[in-house]
Amino acid sequence: MKIIMLGAPGAGKGTQAEMICEKYGLPHVSTGDIFRANIKNGTELGKEAKQYMDKGQLVPDELTVKILLDRVAQDDCKNGYVLDGFPRTIPQAEVLEDALNKLGDKIDYAINVEVPDENIINRMSGRRACVNCGATYHVVYAPTKVEGICDKCGEKLILRDDDKPETVKSRLDVYHKQTQPLIEFYSKKNILKEVDGTVSMNDVFNNIVAILG
Ligand code: AMP
Repeated sequence: MKIIMLGAPGAGKGTQAEMICEKYGLPHVSTGDIFRANIKNGTELGKEAKQYMDKGQLVPDELTVKILLDRVAQDDCKNGYVLDGFPRTIPQAEVLEDALNKLGDKIDYAINVEVPDENIINRMSGRRACVNCGATYHVVYAPTKVEGICDKCGEKLILRDDDKPETVKSRLDVYHKQTQPLIEFYSKKNILKEVDGTVSMNDVFNNIVAILG
């Protein structure tokens, strides 16, 4: 089974992707994670991607498509995968479709996790991350035992730059302009499934499982 997760940044598609992967035994392929791992390891790819990521912009298609096609050609992706954060543009979707066509293959489902912008800005501005261990919390939905202090390591919590309202707003703009057209793209191919992302994490997941069977 090959699945694409669609949705705005902060819609919870990463969490759902992980839950799907665990239940169905599929690899979780996140281009964002691949870029972050490259940044951490100081690779050339990481250096180039970082320039765009820091501004909330998309990494150019050429670079992104290459790392994605390399990743899904690996052995563990033979029986399927869940794509999280790819495709993010129509050209990316077309390259993926062509590559799969050549193998006589196709995407089975594109699942759109729908959350209105107001909810996303609320969710992200309430997010807090530990400066030391990176654990994340939410002031309302996942609070720490002691305000502003990490439950796991006792260090201070901060609001990360990419969760600040200005950055979230620019990432949402990029999403609406470049990624949202994919909803129509996959709808025309009759593989689009929409789920309400404003309900609890487990309810979103149950709705996805009802679709995937
Ligand atoms: P994510 O973790 O999916 O939110 O991705 C973090 C950042 O990585 C994005 O804001 C982009 O700068 C970059 N990125 C991840 N996936 C893609 C993609 N498919 N196309 C272009 N840029 C991407």
